[in-house]
This record gives sequence, C-alpha cells and structure tokens, in this order.
Amino acid sequence: FAHIPKVPEVPLYAQLQVAYGKDPSPLKLNLGFGVYRTEDGKPFLLNVVRRVERLLVNDMSNFKEYLPITGIAEFNRWSARLILGADSPAIKENRVTTVQCLSGSGSLRIGAEFLAKHYPQHHTVYMSQPTYGNHPNLFSAAGLAIKTYRYYDPGTCGLDFQGMLEDLQSAPSGAIVLLQACAHNPTGVDPTIPQWEQIRQLMRSKGLLPFFDSAYQGFVSGNLDEDAKSIRLFVADGGECLIAQSYSKIMGLYGERVGALSIVCKTAEVASHVESQLKLVIRPMYSNPPIHGAAIAAAILKDRDLYNEWSIEVKAMNDRLISMRQRLFNALCDKGTPGDWSHITKHVGMFTFSGLNPEQVAFMTKEYHIYMPSDGRINMAGLGPKTVPHLVDAIHAAVTT
Ligand code: PLP
Repeated sequence: FAHIPKVPEVPLYAQLQVAYGKDPSPLKLNLGFGVYRTEDGKPFLLNVVRRVERLLVNDMSNFKEYLPITGIAEFNRWSARLILGADSPAIKENRVTTVQCLSGSGSLRIGAEFLAKHYPQHHTVYMSQPTYGNHPNLFSAAGLAIKTYRYYDPGTCGLDFQGMLEDLQSAPSGAIVLLQACAHNPTGVDPTIPQWEQIRQLMRSKGLLPFFDSAYQGFVSGNLDEDAKSIRLFVADGGECLIAQSYSKIMGLYGERVGALSIVCKTAEVASHVESQLKLVIRPMYSNPPIHGAAIAAAILKDRDLYNEWSIEVKAMNDRLISMRQRLFNALCDKGTPGDWSHITKHVGMFTFSGLNPEQVAFMTKEYHIYMPSDGRINMAGLGPKTVPHLVDAIHAAVTT
C-alpha cells in the first residue's frame, strides 16, 4: 500500500471535533457537531429510550440470531406509519416497501444504490445549495451525478423560492431530486406548505423523482404528523417517491444506527418487485442490519403510551431549540450588535445559518473558543442559557472588529 496518498481529514468530524477536544479553555463551546444536547451541553438520552431498554433487556438478550435482510418487519411497518400517517392509503394499498437500514445515511445510500441499478431514466441527483455535507458523497459513491438547485438566499437569510423553482424547471425530465422533509440542514430554512405544493406540482408535471430525507421529524413544529406534511403531500397524489428516515436525532439513537428506507410505488405488485430488488442491493453490502436500536424504536412506535411519552420528549427538545433561538436573538438586540438578527428566530429545526463569514468564524474560534463550521452554521442545541452571553460577546466582537 506504499503508493496510497494521504487525504485530508473529513472537515466537520476531524478538524472541528479534534480542535475542540484539544482546546483547554473552560469557555470552549461546540456549536458545530449536529447532535442534540442538554442545556449544560451534555449528551441527551431520552427517558423513553432508557425505559424501553430496561423493558426489552430480557427479550433482546435471548435473541441474537440474524435478522432478515430487510430488518425487523414490525420496525419497518411502524416507520412507514410514522412518516406517512396511520391512515395512509399508500400503506393500506400495500404500495409502500420499507427496509431497515443503517440510520439516515445508510437509508440514503441504499436508495442511491437502488436508483443507480434500477432507475435508468436519469442518473443525476439535484440537491439543495447548500445541503448536508454528506449528501453528495452518499449519492456519488453510488455512481450518480450531482447537480444543485438554488435554495438559500443570503440576502434575506430565507428561501430562494423563485431560484429553486427555476432550477427544478430546467432540470431534465426524470432527474432525481433530493428534498429535506423539514428542518433543513444546514440552513434552518424550509418551504411553507403552499410552497411545497407548488414544488410538488412542478416536479410531478416534469416527471422529476422525489427522494425525501427525513432526519428531523418533529423538530420544527414539535408535532410528528405536522412535520411529515411535505412528504404526505407528494404521497397523496399517488406518484412514486423514496423516503430515508433517521432515528438519530428524533430518538437520540445516534450510535445505534437506526433508519428506514421506504419506496412508495404505484401498485402493490411493483412494491413487491422493488422489495425483492432491495434485498439484492443490501445483501452484498452488509447482509442484514443490527437488532438492538431498531428493537427500541419499534417498541416505542407500536405502544400507545410509549409513543405518547416519546412525542412529549420530542416536543420538549423542540421547545428548547426555539427558546435558545429567542434568547440568542434577544441578547444580540440587547447588546446592540449591528445587523438584522431576526432570521435566528425565523429559522427552524436544529440549525441556523447565522450569516457569519469564514473570517468571523475563525476569529470567534481563536478569540472566544467557539467551534462551528466556516459556513457559519450554528447548532442551536449546542447552546444553553449559560453560554448564550459568551456567544453574543463573540458575535458582537466578530462583527464590530
Ligand atoms: N440527513 C440529514 C439532513 C442530516 O442532517 C443527517 C445527520 O446530521 C443525516 C441525514 C444522517 O444522519 P444519520 O446517518 O445519523 O441518521
């Protein structure tokens, strides 16, 4: 292997995390990594997950056999219900096939491999500019070409809706379009429901294939059904789409790698053919998925009390994100920091695109020990009431120096 060149580390993981870990300052603040944290910046284990683990401990210790290639059937059924709704006609008509995958990333990757093999119409995926850093990797690794559509308008810190529609309008018929279902990463900007409806009409009229990524269901409105509306609009028209679901953030199951890929088809027969092919995609990659995390998720999804308890915890996580937005905005106004910061409270989900430029971010890291990606994305869950003043001091200094 002597010929192998060393490549640079993955920026967000290696550079930010390592630098943060090495920083001895007691003031250091990690707003970079996309994980939910408590007010004190600690990892958050949901109570419902803790409870289910205790309940399941006997069952799980007795079952260490292989799962089927497609994972736990019950987990798949309930995942489809979670995203499409309990009364979804597509589910009732058996037009949806769902397979357990290795979290959101694995679901996107299996979907990408499936499309590369079985979707000859167009091997190009359009994704928002900007998008989650791993999206291009996940799709190009499957051999698909990547293109972008306009999404974020730095002028308004909001959605460039006209730009998005124009770019989708000029995409070739049959192209795949990756859409984040809600709580867009990294911008914190989502289309409204009427805008989603326009996007749907345009995409269907042009025969563009929607591939939804749902990693933050419940993190916008605090309501799981409400945050699935964008997807349900598309599914209601009877057309095809793919959906990747992640349980990393919404159940705090990051390291358990729990996710599902659903493919909504036009008939039950097509769905069964698709499922048979998905098995052939999965089998040579990792044969079958792990049990533990999906068993936890399934137990929560299928039990009314546990589900209610979980919904309340999702709402609480969401409330905390919203209150951090408000606190940060108020504190910047109180300090008289130059600029319009109203986008902080308008943005939704876990992230806000602060508008800080790479030089300002570098300054805040050097002088204030605040770590975030150079695009200025702030993870609101990394903030707590005690750390807001420190961030405000840093932003104030960065924009006035
Ligand atoms: N999709 C989006 C938009 C994300 O933000 C993330 C993680 O940050 C993922 C997918 C993948 O997460 P995971 O593989 O942990 O489910």
